[in-house]
Amino acid sequence: MQSYKNIHYLCGRLVISIFMKLVFATGNPGKIREAAEILGEGFELVTPASLGIKEDLPETGNTLRANSMQKADYIYKKTGLNCFADDSGLEVDILGGAPGVETARYAGPQRDADANMDKLLEEMARREKEAAMARTNGITTANANRKARFRTSVTLIINGEHHFFDGVMEGHIGLDKKGNGGFGYDPIFIPEGYSQTNAQLGEQVKNTISHRAKALKAMAEYLRK
Ligand code: IMP
Repeated sequence: MQSYKNIHYLCGRLVISIFMKLVFATGNPGKIREAAEILGEGFELVTPASLGIKEDLPETGNTLRANSMQKADYIYKKTGLNCFADDSGLEVDILGGAPGVETARYAGPQRDADANMDKLLEEMARREKEAAMARTNGITTANANRKARFRTSVTLIINGEHHFFDGVMEGHIGLDKKGNGGFGYDPIFIPEGYSQTNAQLGEQVKNTISHRAKALKAMAEYLRK
């Protein structure tokens, strides 16, 4: 396992800290910030860009796990370094679980967060209207609710071996965008037990409850063992 021992003196005592170097296969600065905060001391995160890998990482799978594995495999094959990748998706009940694996490109290949959120809010309003109309015509439909969840799949590659970690954050979709923090769909996602969006709650709260936090904490625990 690739790790670095950093020997220094603290209050006259010899302290040895182990730093594990891991490439995080992402180009998203928001995710890198989050992961560094969640993993805490003991890990040195390296970005693909800092290793000269500037191209988009492949993610053409049909599941979150297939995509996280594809991204981690790509980095491992190119660098031979221990690495991990995540892939996340938003499942909205009234949309039958969409956008799911298409979350990043919901409104098109440009992966624009605002356009994605606008499309999601429009699609939900359309489905809610259809359900209400069906009910006025005497057709029984399930009560429209705005329940949703984020899922993350993390693939870790250590010395060529794959390890998988998953995380879920339950919540619901707000009626409009609120807050300036976070990234992606954070301005419209209200986690269970809270009345504000992820973007309003801020990183400190989000990092204790998020799908990625749960998966990365499980990964860190495994690595510390
Ligand atoms: P990916 O894992 O980077 O492919 O992310 C898939 C999509 O989910 C992207 O549109 C992200 O912006 C969005 N996403 C992933 N995690 C979060 C999150 O914690 N908050 C808001 N949006 C997220």
